[in-house]
Amino acid sequence: MKKEEGSMQIPNLVVGAGITGATIARRIAEDFGQPVTVIDVREHIGGNCHSEFDSQTGIEYHCYGTHIFHTTSGRVWDFIRRFSEFNSYRHKVLTTYNGRAYHMPVNLQTINLFFGLQLRPYEVADFIRRKSAEENITEPRNLEEKAISLIGRELYEAFVKGYTLKQWETDPKNLSADIISRLPFRHTHECDYFTCPYQGLPLEGYDRLFENMLDHELITVKLGQDYFSLRDTLPADCRVFYTGPIDRFFDYRHGELSWRSLRFDYETLDVPDYQGTSVMNYADVEVPYTRIHEYRHLHPERDNMSGRTLICREYSRKWKQGDEPYYPVNTDADREKLALYEKEAEAVSNVYFAGRLGQYRYYDMDKAVLAALELCDGL
Ligand code: FAD
Repeated sequence: MKKEEGSMQIPNLVVGAGITGATIARRIAEDFGQPVTVIDVREHIGGNCHSEFDSQTGIEYHCYGTHIFHTTSGRVWDFIRRFSEFNSYRHKVLTTYNGRAYHMPVNLQTINLFFGLQLRPYEVADFIRRKSAEENITEPRNLEEKAISLIGRELYEAFVKGYTLKQWETDPKNLSADIISRLPFRHTHECDYFTCPYQGLPLEGYDRLFENMLDHELITVKLGQDYFSLRDTLPADCRVFYTGPIDRFFDYRHGELSWRSLRFDYETLDVPDYQGTSVMNYADVEVPYTRIHEYRHLHPERDNMSGRTLICREYSRKWKQGDEPYYPVNTDADREKLALYEKEAEAVSNVYFAGRLGQYRYYDMDKAVLAALELCDGL
């Protein structure tokens, strides 16, 4: 990976050194044999997958929230593993509600512990059917109804309602049912959060993965470089792969797309292990944060030599310009604005809009990689 202050007389410019931009740059250099410059307004590569090693504990922490690589796509897995080995971490999530920790997504342990029962797997479907039938919801119109139709009111109120209120600052009655249409629900003690076959964390950390992706003689990386301060200087035939916010590209002329932002509060503790797992959700609405991350658990293969641990409390908040955009809110108004921006984007020649910001959609990392690979297939 070359870091240079060279001129912008280049045939390909990738805006954003996140997983979308790095994938596109790699393919242009490797498969098309063309020079490509990658710029990022931030001072680091990796986009929101960026991580650092804490100086006090030596623990790697993910600066924009815990990131677990997981995929069902053999193509994505083969591609990404060219740049790093992965450990065998399998993600599990727990949720604390009313002082007790439960498995999440809801499984047999959650139900038995919550209701004080000893149901067997074959009894769960009936039990939940009875619970959800109490409300007689056949066509859920919003998130609350969808959740109740899946798990019944009691589980909904304990595990979904408060968390959702904190996460979206919106009554679940006013949120789309789609948000949890994929909420997995288990009749067994299975507690892996993701069921996909390929999963793990880069053995040497995310930034090494990105360094390796961008390490090609035809790729030049320039950090701390804002696209909008140089776009007027670009040659007309420069192909631009833009992974920044689509509304910003068009100077917000149809209005801002709305996002949720996050605040991360870190704390170093004088204990080797604080919560025994990497992510603990907090469902009670009275607890102001949505979850606590404890990064040491993502790498059980590493020794925690310091005997201390690093935790991070995550708070959800409304996004405003200048904040980091994390989750697209995706209201009807957002979708209308997005359609207008997409129409404008079609009319711009030589610019490809990609990634979570360029397309205003929630992408897991593997989906972002796949979309970037497919974009390059079509070049
Ligand atoms: P980004 O990573 O956002 O990269 C875009 C880059 O463009 C940024 O670095 C930005 O600085 C740069 N940029 C923007 N504007 C400009 C400009 N004007 N000039 C120059 N550069 C610019 N996915 C998973 O698979 N597993 C997980 O566990 C997971 N956890 C997540 C947790 C949270 C809290 C969130 C919000 C997302 C999570 N994701 C996870 C999703 C993951 O973060 C995305 O898939 C990934 O970041 C998408 O990469 P990207 O390159 O499209 O965007």
